[in-house]
Amino acid sequence: MTAGKLDGSVAVITGGSRGIGRATALLLAEHGARVTIGDLTLDTANEKSFAELGIRQQVCDVRKLDSLRGLIDGAATDSGRLDILVNNAGIVMVGQVDEIEEADWDRCLDTNLKAAFFGVKYAIPHMRKVGGGAIVNTASNAGILPRAHDPVYSTSKLALTGMTRSLALCHGPDKIRINAVCPGPVSDTGIMNADLATQADLEAAVKRFIQASPIARASGRMITPEEVAQAILYLVSDAAQMVTGTMIAIDGGKSLGVPPTETS
Ligand code: NAD
Repeated sequence: MTAGKLDGSVAVITGGSRGIGRATALLLAEHGARVTIGDLTLDTANEKSFAELGIRQQVCDVRKLDSLRGLIDGAATDSGRLDILVNNAGIVMVGQVDEIEEADWDRCLDTNLKAAFFGVKYAIPHMRKVGGGAIVNTASNAGILPRAHDPVYSTSKLALTGMTRSLALCHGPDKIRINAVCPGPVSDTGIMNADLATQADLEAAVKRFIQASPIARASGRMITPEEVAQAILYLVSDAAQMVTGTMIAIDGGKSLGVPPTETS
């Protein structure tokens, strides 16, 4: 395989009905992968484009380990192999410590961290059979630089980037590469749309997201799901054969530090 050429490979993507997961499913399938997506709810709007690219859809709740295992084992069994797993399903959790209850913590950590660990666990036996594989975890900007408004989400994503490095070390000998992508604010996603829907001044909120990333600010737009998908495509392709345990920030420089002011 060369970059962009995934012919013959089999991929599973969690949270693939919308946003970054959907863009990744389309891109990987366009590059020849046989893709199965799992999601809590399937979107009928995807049926035509997914069918054209042979993308299979399955209802899956990654918090239920039987459901997650069924998604991964099912795709591997039906296609005879598994080469790629993208642990992408995720939820946000905004709130300070005194507002967070045990159920909130569990929902966020189970979705964003535990499911990724068990996704790796279930994928590994299939990948070993074919002599290796590539796993990408969708972390976040918050997996590099924690934020004050969402300590539970930040914790889940910081742990996910740490786990990515730890498991990459463990499974190098299996030739299973495990990497993470760390997006900044991404437009046209369920997560972003839900956030914007709560804002009194939509235009000002969009501007704040754009202002937070130096390159986004200079470009006058947010990061797109397709731009995150391109990084995932690179990480799962043979172009990245020696790349493991890394994080690629697709964040317009947001996690680099305090950006220059408008006038500097
Ligand atoms: P999204 O809401 O469009 O997509 C997330 C998908 O995950 C949805 O289709 C949702 O139904 C699915 N999902 C949620 N819980 C699930 C569960 N228990 N089982 C199965 N599927 C489940 O948002 P997105 O931005 O595309 O999110 C994808 C990933 O990107 C998440 O891990 C998120 O934390 C991360 N991320 C997003 C942004 C952003 O600005 N949108 C920034 C950084 C990181």
